[in-house]
Amino acid sequence: MNIKQEMELLALQTRNSLGIGLFEKVNIFELLTKVEGISLMIVEMSDKISGMYLSRKDESLIVINSKKTLGHQHFTAAHEYYHFKFDRNLSHRICPIKKFEDEYEEEYKANQFAVNFLLPKQAVEFILSRRVNNRKIELDDVIFLEQYFEVSHQLMLIRLKELGYINKNQYEEFKKNVVKRACELGYSAKLYKPTSDEGIKVYSKYLELATRLYESGRISRGKYEELLIEGGYADVVFNAPEEIEGVENEIEDADIF
Ligand SMILES: [Zn+2]
Repeated sequence: MNIKQEMELLALQTRNSLGIGLFEKVNIFELLTKVEGISLMIVEMSDKISGMYLSRKDESLIVINSKKTLGHQHFTAAHEYYHFKFDRNLSHRICPIKKFEDEYEEEYKANQFAVNFLLPKQAVEFILSRRVNNRKIELDDVIFLEQYFEVSHQLMLIRLKELGYINKNQYEEFKKNVVKRACELGYSAKLYKPTSDEGIKVYSKYLELATRLYESGRISRGKYEELLIEGGYADVVFNAPEEIEGVENEIEDADIF
């Protein structure tokens, strides 16, 4: 079995163990935060970085660059999920995720895991066959699929080409007029846009607990900050102090997921 096949198997086993249906799309942010208890921060980072993974004691933090499109953020989240789940000795990793065929083995594995986790072969086949039914694939079908699975247009094209549903010419042709067409078809353009204008977002059981205790007057500001430090990500949070306001507001709406 080569790495690619190994990662496909691992992704399917992981989906299965989490009770994710064969054809179901994954709500990756919800999985990370609510099911796995990982702290998640979506914040503006350098353009070169897609995301990073940090682990301290029993606490893990995934940071995702909000300057990337929401679709790409979902891929980054699934990529970092691999580091969390299968790179257990890793204390931190910064992931540029520039290319799919990464030369670093762990990055390549994380990409392969992520694509199979978000877009399993059988799921793409099932959803596509119900829609296309022997006719030629059109741009509208690609848009339908990426909206269904909530991935970037680029990743959807890569996957369809890899699975043999589209050829090189279609791959190039379908790269154009995507957002305009998606809007004409009645979809939201959210998937294709960065989320940096929404401010910093933090999802963490520690932050929620600390905020509730602080607000109810049961702990001091100092104790509140101490709890954040125990969460293992205080330096990241406090290195961006001008955005702390936004963090606390965001927590108020934490159940938008
Ligand atoms: Zn990585």
